[in-house]
Amino acid sequence: MIVGAGPRGTGLIERIAANAPELYAGSGLDIHLVDPYPPGSGRIWRAAQSPLMWMNSHAEDITMFTDETVAMEGPVVGGPTLHEWAGIDGRVFADRRLQGSYLRWVHERAVAALPPDVTVHHHEGRALRVGGPREGRQQVWLEGRPRPLLADLVVLALGHLDAEPDDEQAELTAYARKHGLVHLAPDFTADSDLSALRAGEPVLVRGFGLAFVDLMVLLTEGRGGRYDGDTYVPSGQEPVLYVGSRRGVPYHSKIGYDWSGERPPLPRFFGPAEVEALLARPGGFDFRRDVWPLVEKELGFAHYHRLFTAHPERTSGAWSDFEEKYAASSGAAQREALAAAAVPDPGDRLDLRALERPLDGMRYRSFEEFQEELRGYVERDLSRRHDPYHSPDLAVFLGLLSVYGQLVRLGGVGPWWHGFFSYVASGPPGPRLRQMPALSRAGVLKFVGADMSVTAQDGMFRASSATVPGFSVRARALVEARLPAPTVARARDTLLRELHAEGAAETPDGLLRVDPADGRILDRAGRPHPRRFALGPYTDGRTPGAFTRPRTGGPAFRQNDATARAALRFLAGLAARAAA
Ligand SMILES: Cc1cc2nc3c(=O)[nH]c(=O)nc-3n(C[C@H](O)[C@H](O)[C@H](O)COP(=O)(O)OP(=O)(O)OC[C@H]3O[C@@H](n4cnc5c(N)ncnc54)[C@H](O)[C@@H]3O)c2cc1C
Repeated sequence: MIVGAGPRGTGLIERIAANAPELYAGSGLDIHLVDPYPPGSGRIWRAAQSPLMWMNSHAEDITMFTDETVAMEGPVVGGPTLHEWAGIDGRVFADRRLQGSYLRWVHERAVAALPPDVTVHHHEGRALRVGGPREGRQQVWLEGRPRPLLADLVVLALGHLDAEPDDEQAELTAYARKHGLVHLAPDFTADSDLSALRAGEPVLVRGFGLAFVDLMVLLTEGRGGRYDGDTYVPSGQEPVLYVGSRRGVPYHSKIGYDWSGERPPLPRFFGPAEVEALLARPGGFDFRRDVWPLVEKELGFAHYHRLFTAHPERTSGAWSDFEEKYAASSGAAQREALAAAAVPDPGDRLDLRALERPLDGMRYRSFEEFQEELRGYVERDLSRRHDPYHSPDLAVFLGLLSVYGQLVRLGGVGPWWHGFFSYVASGPPGPRLRQMPALSRAGVLKFVGADMSVTAQDGMFRASSATVPGFSVRARALVEARLPAPTVARARDTLLRELHAEGAAETPDGLLRVDPADGRILDRAGRPHPRRFALGPYTDGRTPGAFTRPRTGGPAFRQNDATARAALRFLAGLAARAAA
């Protein structure tokens, strides 16, 4: 039984098809696939949504197929990337509906590749509950069916979860109800009802990531506005969006040029050996104390390797000397001194702090001054990220991908790292970011600043930020532009909540704990459940997005393969016992 037929469920079926000839010959198998949305696309990539909703990856960077860079036991089965399949320019940001067609095709191809005695049955609806003993068949209750379906094992690929509001959200919603205000709690923007946001009225928006971009697009072009070059021509139906967040700036632009030349040899300072050493520590490890220094060193290595090999005129000395000293360095201060001596322009040195919090310590005298500054910031970010002069940025991006893979091996990625990664490496498409200054000039978008604070008082919502001391804005509408936090305990889904109540383990951040070896769900004693598996963003095995760039050894592929193989081995064992 597979619950969830989005990209992860689809990737799993692809791996079952690839591995079945070796591990599961000839005993017949029924795969029950449960999802209210169509198999392949699932909820996020379904056909029924606005064409204004784009992917945030270039079409050439999306593949559902493995290659020999993936460290997995199963066989590689090649196939087209999105842009090859769709016959579109690799640099296009496809809309989500097109990606959904690709995913449905991948699903159909995977189903067709299954051995003849393996059959997939789609059940259109939700799975409500999983029960059954550890050592026996699992019972899965489906919506609208009085009796459970029996399954030898269950894989959950539930994706992004809807969540019950936390205390702060519940209070804000109650306040809105009492005072006739509008409060939109964290949700899939594409599924939210935005009709309560009225033309011309101020709307406070908390969150400046990808959910904000979806919101911005739906409330501007989605309401009939259009662009004439870099000028936004309003329809008059738009509200006025006051956006802010902890950082106060949008996610960094996607990088808009290709890699050329020598790749940084990654992993270098944070690879399998360091992961093993951390896992073997008797007292465990702490992310900030033990892991982050390795991450910093790895990202710095990627950055300076690129600077020295591709832009040697901006360095003094030879790479081999620098590399030797860098390898021997034991701390951020030493590395900073090394960089200061070998890289004359401070702008060529890696400053992770400034990258992460560009508004830290910045104060503006007036709201208008800050608007101008932020428009300039976005435009500078866009030109930098489209200019190969700054190609160490792309090396750092490769470093971030490499680090993400190692963190997954280390047993999981917490929300801080995932947020940092998304902000630096997984920002909006350039064309969407470019719309922000245009909307700002048109008066439809206003920037509130960093550490945005929102209060509910005197029957209204009020937002302020330290970036512009003294400035505040009042509004009757507040939108939380972010996905619900993927915590198991707060999941709206009864299935997960019950698993949690029955003893499935969670991380301190609320992610479902799974065995890094094969995705089996762990209980609080750390025991893997023999018959229950989970894959995806609500687990501590989460990966950077579901889609992998070709030839980057995607950890999601490795996980899908390991889970498919463990499931097939388990089922083959059952079949052998039944035949004996
Ligand atoms: C709005 C949005 C945009 C994104 N854009 C990108 C992008 O451009 N590039 C990228 O790499 N990543 C992107 N991501 C990241 C995302 O993690 C993946 O793209 C991907 O969709 C995750 O795949 P999944 O199968 O794990 O989850 P989902 O795609 O969420 O699929 C899970 C499926 O499980 C089903 N389900 C859940 N609970 C139940 C239940 N109880 N019973 C039955 N079915 C159930 C849901 O209906 C859904 O169809 C985006 C995420 C979001 C939310």
